[in-house]
Amino acid sequence: MTTTVLHNARLIDGNGGAPIPDATVVIEDDKISYAGSSAGAPATKDATSIDLEGNSICPGFFDVHVHLYLPGTKGSPLMTAVLPESFRYFQLIERLKVTLEAGVTTVRDLMGVDVGVREAIAAGLIEGPRLLVAEKMLSQSGGHADFHIVAGVDGTRLVGGVLVDTVDEARVEARKLCRTGVDVIKIASSGGVTSPNDQPEYLGVREELVEAIVEEGQHYGGRPVAAHAIGLPGIEAAVNGGARSIEHGYALTDELRKKMVENGQFLVPTLLETLKPDTATPQARAKSEKWHKIAQESIRASVAAGVKIATGTDAGLVPDHGTNLGEVGLLVRFGGMTPLQAITAGTKTSAELCELDDVLGTLETGKLADVVVVKGDPSQDADLVGDNDNILLVIKEGKIKIDRGGFTD
Ligand SMILES: [Zn+2]
Repeated sequence: MTTTVLHNARLIDGNGGAPIPDATVVIEDDKISYAGSSAGAPATKDATSIDLEGNSICPGFFDVHVHLYLPGTKGSPLMTAVLPESFRYFQLIERLKVTLEAGVTTVRDLMGVDVGVREAIAAGLIEGPRLLVAEKMLSQSGGHADFHIVAGVDGTRLVGGVLVDTVDEARVEARKLCRTGVDVIKIASSGGVTSPNDQPEYLGVREELVEAIVEEGQHYGGRPVAAHAIGLPGIEAAVNGGARSIEHGYALTDELRKKMVENGQFLVPTLLETLKPDTATPQARAKSEKWHKIAQESIRASVAAGVKIATGTDAGLVPDHGTNLGEVGLLVRFGGMTPLQAITAGTKTSAELCELDDVLGTLETGKLADVVVVKGDPSQDADLVGDNDNILLVIKEGKIKIDRGGFTD
């Protein structure tokens, strides 16, 4: 058994309570055996002791909305069309690495990579955050997953779109995805900023299709539905149809916020992508200006209404991979959260959305040792976690992945 003792640190355990100023975390193999005040820490023998020099220990963070297959500002989504499939897999190596080294130990990829990438990471073939995958996105013809370009090119399959226009088609395609082993079913119940043929205020898959897909996911191992929904008709369909998470949710109303609270549905507000225009298509640039403003203005009411908020960024589409935790500070800046609330959104609440809260999301005895050491005190300034220079140490399942702090030199 390997024992590691992290000491001389401030503990922010993810539960949202006041940090413990002089704390110790003991890791035995891949699990936490103690997290609390140094005074109460158990005696250990043959342990590796790491002095964290007064910095802060947080749980491993989540980004529940990424697209690892997309290049961010490092390329154009259209360029992927001219690359062989195998080349695109090798591009994932660096994206996975920078994401993990940013302190994100779990990500949910909501269209693009397949379950094989998840399995390769789990098997230790490549380094990266633990992955949950949707593989594809379902929408109706002409909807957000339909990438028929006016000139006649069809990019739908390339981006991972699947078109379903009837309840029966929706059920069949949802079951096919479950058969491949996806963790979550991604749908688009509104139009999108990036898609070439529609507007965010358009209705995407309508409520009866959402409901049918939710039902199939439930039958097939209880797989949740994540709904891309920006404009009001799409959010209505997603909330009323029973999606577990509303991705974006920019046009939410108080009535729908109330329903989300009652139903226990999550909001993933993707604020980081609202800081820069979406340049994936010329249409996207124009649309993003309007919708990003709405996003920044509406999140405060969702936080105030008590909607469960998880952190997701659309990394790969607009934000670059590895910049994920900028989202945490934006929940304070635009959402009015306290820094501790924002950290809880990025850890405990996101783990709950991913149904991993029994093993991840907080630093408690028995949980997996995903640990991030942050320079300074992020419970006073949540923006600290968004700068990778402050991510001093990243541990995933008890193994050190990066040590910028030089603690183990
Ligand atoms: Zn997305």
